[in-house]
Amino acid sequence: MFAIDCPHHGARTLASTDDIRSYSNTDHGIVMEVECHCGGIVTVTMGRTARELDACGAAA
Ligand SMILES: [Zn+2]
Repeated sequence: MFAIDCPHHGARTLASTDDIRSYSNTDHGIVMEVECHCGGIVTVTMGRTARELDACGAAA
């Protein structure tokens, strides 16, 4: 689980790896599109946590 700030319902909420809709490794870090429980898509950029995310992705 990780926290996302969802602009669609205006609050911070928890998402799980199952909520990740897309995932790409860019020069700026890992960019993910995560579907909030409200149905909104939230773009999240991960920097130094890329390795942790890789571990999560492998487990999912
Ligand atoms: Zn939301």
